[in-house]
Amino acid sequence: MNVLIVDDSKFWRMVLENILSKFGCTVHVAENALDGIERALKVFPEAIITDYNMPGLSGLQLCLYLRSIPAFSDVGIAVLTGSDDVINEFWAINSGATKFISKLLPKDELERELKNFLTVRYAVHPERSGYIRSVYDVLEQKMRTEVLNKKILSLVQYARDESYVVGELKSFLSFFSRLEAVAFTLVSTVEGRLYNFGFPFQKNVLKQKILEKFEKPLEPSAWTYYGAYGSEILGDEPEVFVVSYEGNEIGALAFYGVAELRCLYSVLNDSYESLSLLFNTLNMIRELKVASSVDNLTGLLNKKEILRFLEEVHSTSNAQRTNYYVAMLDIDNFKKINDTYGHLVGDEVLRGVGRIVRETLPQGAVAGRYGGEEFTIVFTRTKKEIVMETMERILERVRNASFGEVKCTLSGGVVSSATYTSPTEVLKAADDLLYLAKKSGKDKVVYAFIDEADRELARLKNESPERQLTQEYVQDGHN
Ligand code: GH3
Ligand code: MG
Ligand code: MG
Repeated sequence: MNVLIVDDSKFWRMVLENILSKFGCTVHVAENALDGIERALKVFPEAIITDYNMPGLSGLQLCLYLRSIPAFSDVGIAVLTGSDDVINEFWAINSGATKFISKLLPKDELERELKNFLTVRYAVHPERSGYIRSVYDVLEQKMRTEVLNKKILSLVQYARDESYVVGELKSFLSFFSRLEAVAFTLVSTVEGRLYNFGFPFQKNVLKQKILEKFEKPLEPSAWTYYGAYGSEILGDEPEVFVVSYEGNEIGALAFYGVAELRCLYSVLNDSYESLSLLFNTLNMIRELKVASSVDNLTGLLNKKEILRFLEEVHSTSNAQRTNYYVAMLDIDNFKKINDTYGHLVGDEVLRGVGRIVRETLPQGAVAGRYGGEEFTIVFTRTKKEIVMETMERILERVRNASFGEVKCTLSGGVVSSATYTSPTEVLKAADDLLYLAKKSGKDKVVYAFIDEADRELARLKNESPERQLTQEYVQDGHN
């Protein structure tokens, strides 16, 4: 075994050299800690025995210093203490020393302690030290890392605004290399996000090219894409740098057309810890957001969020004098499904219907679970033909689907917003029409567009429920 002795006392160097030679070790010596670091970087010993009390750096500081170099993370370090040495317990525990041995022990006991220390199999990894060759390199690396990490950690305070953080990271990286394209991927169980700056790929192609560099990618239940995507399918492979946190791959950075790849990678490696912490924080915040806005069972927005969205749409529509549409949907005879097959099967049906609704929505439409087996859809930037087509398609798909062995149907009511002054009124009108659909045999959607709805609902209210059904408002779902 290669062993390095660091001690300022000539006497102790001789004593230790003697003992170690007897054990058959190859011995190297240094007279102070700084010298010890230089020697360690030349001879790469598996074990180091250092005095605690030396002029200049102490044995404990030597320990801290060496442990910060990846090459020495698994070497054995014994610190020898004298009678006057009082070592702060915190630093003793956190210095990375393998063992403390008292110099006051009788010679045979000291030998036994050293022998015990050296029977453990230690390892040194010279290949991990990178460009570090001297004590100055270590110092430079420390300072660089500190600045880079500080810069990245300062972004944690903006973690609520993920797009901003990602934009800042992008400009930070462009200090170190010219980049034609950068993409950031963040993955958590609930939602994957892909931010693209300049890759000409299609969404799915870029996502796949990045995720195939992961060992075991998580499969989020949804993905959101930011930035502009191209239409190319082929193209150069992106360089991908995967970021893990506590053993889980939580994100990646992808590059294209990098001028200074090595420089960029050394920046990323040096700031890895804070990068991984930042990504983890972004994921945690996203998970909290999703947890408080999405319905667990169906993956659609929960009631609070769909109502919030409706409010938002209502006020922009008012300002821009545009129309939007609201649908209320309700599963038919759902109580019977629960009663016949049990609640778990009922949940499965809800999940399945939720998926169909989500998959059928056109651009600009957002769906939420309003209550037990009731769904709300808000259609924006669209025409009534699209709305009707979508509704009929949802009903048809649900009608034809089997959830396990269970089948079910939906009823719905749809209104356009034009004549209503508040979102509550719009919802109420859609609900009234849903009621009509139920009354007239279920598995159908009743529509009322523009002011017809108001007029007719007012008229219907004055009639008995049995007579509420009028053919013109009932659009048979089976057509
Ligand atoms: P209709 O066709 O008139 O809508 O009749 P229905 O039986 O569907 O309506 P009703 O409102 O009488 O019953 C709804 C049932 O939905 C009652 C409730 O136990 C059930 N339900 C509500 N939330 C959940 C849920 O999260 N999971 C399951 N399995 N059942 C639910
Ligand atoms: Mg129902
Ligand atoms: Mg109901």
